[in-house]
Amino acid sequence: MAIKVKNPLVEIDGDEMTRIIWQLVKDELLFPYLDVETIYYDLHVKVRDDTDDQITVEAAKAIAQYGVGVKCATITPNGARVQEYGLKKQWPSPNGTIRGILDGTVFRQPIVVKNVPPTVRTWKKPIIIGRHAYGDVYKNQEILVPGPGKGELVFTPADGGEPTRLTIQDFKGPGVLQGIHNTEKSIRSFARACIMYAISLRVPLWFGAKDTISKTYHAFFRDTFQEEVDAYKAELDAAGVVYFYTLIDDAVARVMRHEGGFLWACMNYDGDVMSDMLASGFGSLALMTSVLVSPDGPMEFEAAHGTVQKHYYAHLKGERTSTNSTATIFAWTGALARRGELDDTPDVVDFTKKLEAAVIETIEHGTMTKDLVSVAVGPTDQASTEGFIGAVKARLEAKL
Ligand code: NAP
Ligand code: MG
Repeated sequence: MAIKVKNPLVEIDGDEMTRIIWQLVKDELLFPYLDVETIYYDLHVKVRDDTDDQITVEAAKAIAQYGVGVKCATITPNGARVQEYGLKKQWPSPNGTIRGILDGTVFRQPIVVKNVPPTVRTWKKPIIIGRHAYGDVYKNQEILVPGPGKGELVFTPADGGEPTRLTIQDFKGPGVLQGIHNTEKSIRSFARACIMYAISLRVPLWFGAKDTISKTYHAFFRDTFQEEVDAYKAELDAAGVVYFYTLIDDAVARVMRHEGGFLWACMNYDGDVMSDMLASGFGSLALMTSVLVSPDGPMEFEAAHGTVQKHYYAHLKGERTSTNSTATIFAWTGALARRGELDDTPDVVDFTKKLEAAVIETIEHGTMTKDLVSVAVGPTDQASTEGFIGAVKARLEAKL
C-alpha cells in the first residue's frame, strides 16, 4: 500500500546527468511507495529558452503557493551553453531568480556517513550554515585613493533633513576606501528564515558578529536578529530551539571543537568563507544538500552540486557512469519530510527517515559511487549510478 502524501509538492526538473538521476530516483525509490501529486515544472535549459525564462518565475511562484519544492540541478547558461543548445541568450541563474522571488536564505547541510570521516574529528553531526546573501562587501563602493585627501561617510536624508557626515580618514598619502551597507528589511528576512529553518529541524540556532569592534553596523545585526528571536519566542520554545549569540571569533573557535547538530547563521562574508570551509571539511560536494528558506515559511530543497556535465557526456556515449545520487535523494526526503510535517502525516516523515537510513547504510557498508571511493576509509565496492540506487532500494524494501 502506497503512503499517501496529503498535499502536492512542487517538482522542478533540470539538466544533464542530474536529470537522469532525477528520473531514476523517482522511478526506483519514491513513486513505487508513495501516492504523491507533484506540480511539475520542467526547467530544462531549452524549456527556459522557449518560454523566455517565464517557467522559472512560475516555478518560484508555485513554491510560494504550495509551501514546499524540490529542485534538480540546472545549467546556468554561459557562452558555451548558448552555442551548445542554440539559446536566445545567456539566461540568468534559475537559483538566483527563485531566490529573488522567494526572498530566501540558502542553508547548506552536509550528509554525515561514518566511513567518510570529516577532517575535524569532533564533528559527528551536520553543521548547517545559513548565509545572509545580501549587501555588505558584496554590494559596496570602493575608491582607490591616489594621494592626500579626506575620506568621508555621508548620509543625506530624503526628506531634506541635515546630512550626517563622518570623517573616515585624513589621508596623508595613497590608500584605499570602501563603503558598505545593509537594510533592516533584509536582516529581518534573514533572521526569520534562520528561525523558521531551526524550528523545522529542531536544532540550536547560532549567530555571530563582530559587535565589539563594529559598535553600530555589526551591533545592528546583533540587535535586529535578537528582536526577531524575541518575536518568535513562543514558536522557538515550543520546538525546543535555543538561540545563542556570540562574537564571530568565538563562534569559529567553538565550531572547530563541537560535535555539530546546530544551525549557524552567518553574515554575508562569514557565510561565503565558512560554507566553503565546512563543505571541504565534511568531505564531498556530492554529500551536500542545500535548502532555500523564505522568511514566510516556504522551502525549496536541492543538491548543492551542479548538473555533473562530464558524467552526462560519458552517459550519452553509452559509457558506464558512477554518479552519486545521495544529495538528490536527500533533496527529495527533505522536501517530503517538510510536506509531511506541514500536513501532519507522520507516516510520510517516517518513510523519509527509512529512505535516508537506507542510503547511509548502503554507503557505510561499502557500496558507493566513485567520488566517495577515493575519500572513504575501510572496504569499498564501487557501484554504477544505477547499481547504487538499486542497492539503496534493496535496503529500503527491507525496512518497509
Ligand atoms: P558540478 O556539476 O557540481 O560538477 C563538478 C565535478 O564535481 C564533476 O565533474 C564531478 O567530478 C564532481 N561531482 C559533482 N557532483 C557529483 C556527483 N553527484 N557525483 C559524482 N561526482 C560529482 O559542477 P560543474 O561541472 O562546474 O557545473 C556543471 C553545470 O552545473 C554548469 O552548467 C553549472 O551552471 C551548473 N550548476 C548548477 C547548480 C544548481 O543548479 N544548483 C549548482 C552548480 C552548478 P569528476 O568529473 O571529477 O567525477
Ligand atoms: Mg565561498
